[in-house]
Amino acid sequence: MSRSRVASLLIVALTGAVAGFVPATAEATPTCLTGRLEYSHYDAEAGTRKPLVTQAARNANWELWGKVTAGSAATRLSSGITAVGDGAFSACHQGRVAEVYVKFLSASTTMWRVIKSEGTQAQYSFESAHKTGSQSLGTVRVPASMQRAWTIVDTLNALYWKRNNPSSACWTKHQETGACDTLTFVWEQNRTDSGYWDYPDTNYVILGQNEPDSKHTILHEAGHWLQWQLYDHAFPRVSGCNPHYIEQASSTSCAWTEGFADAVAAYTLGDYRYVDDSGASTSLRNDPDTADWDAGDKVQGRVGSSLLDLWAPDGPDGGNWDRTIELMSDEFSQNFREYFVSDRPAGGLSTTGPARTILGSHTITY
Ligand SMILES: [Zn+2]
Repeated sequence: MSRSRVASLLIVALTGAVAGFVPATAEATPTCLTGRLEYSHYDAEAGTRKPLVTQAARNANWELWGKVTAGSAATRLSSGITAVGDGAFSACHQGRVAEVYVKFLSASTTMWRVIKSEGTQAQYSFESAHKTGSQSLGTVRVPASMQRAWTIVDTLNALYWKRNNPSSACWTKHQETGACDTLTFVWEQNRTDSGYWDYPDTNYVILGQNEPDSKHTILHEAGHWLQWQLYDHAFPRVSGCNPHYIEQASSTSCAWTEGFADAVAAYTLGDYRYVDDSGASTSLRNDPDTADWDAGDKVQGRVGSSLLDLWAPDGPDGGNWDRTIELMSDEFSQNFREYFVSDRPAGGLSTTGPARTILGSHTITY
């Protein structure tokens, strides 16, 4: 044992003597609270019955809080994120404590977060049971009143994993690790003015009521934010977009931005539809239903389904959207025509053969 080690143990022993209970070996004894974080979710993607399902809350922030001595104030002792596989956490402090608990927060690192309002900026949070030492907490369930905040936190993992930015931990290549923009969702159960991305004001996604029951809705709105990020804080000038419908003509700028957002949601979830928070579903596939849709590149459903076919496993873009993400990081497109006619060639993507055939099958001809 080194002299400094002896000295520090002496200090601990002295401090312990003053506090009256801390033994000399206290600093070597970790205190850990372990468990798994879960949330309940009314699953709109499963249909209008919206069955209540239980899911692991993955990559969700936790903080270990505690009182080192009985009379002291609680302080944050450590922090981390839940595991990807099962929402597991192991929250440890190197030392003994008088009281300890885990605080769960509606965010994932600093990459994305859910706050209650633009004004307070406060995240949702709740505490585990308070303990006096190491213990397994088993399964910790997010309180029902705030479960939709964790639905958002958990769902955004899927988009983050598909973001195709090998150059940094950020959402796009425009930012360096450590200086990433945070994707912010505002959700409040009683909020009715909601269901949009608040551009160009806060640039937050605003959701209310049961809207997070649809993962397509979460990812559609995140898709608007992602397009703005890919264009390095630029966004097409959008007109004639309020309201807009998947199957109806709006404008080329509206169809491009809304069609892209629809495609982001379906691509991320690996399906071919849009599902709203009632559980009602609109197919984006070419089938007898879509034959009745309006035609051309002013129709968001035509644009979105074209993108999905270009990115499909058997499509001309290599089986995924990665090269579109790359080209959008370099080339701003005001509308789908510019994306297809000008920017795809610049990004090395085809505009003839199967790509042209795909657009034609969705009533778009350039
Ligand atoms: Zn939208």
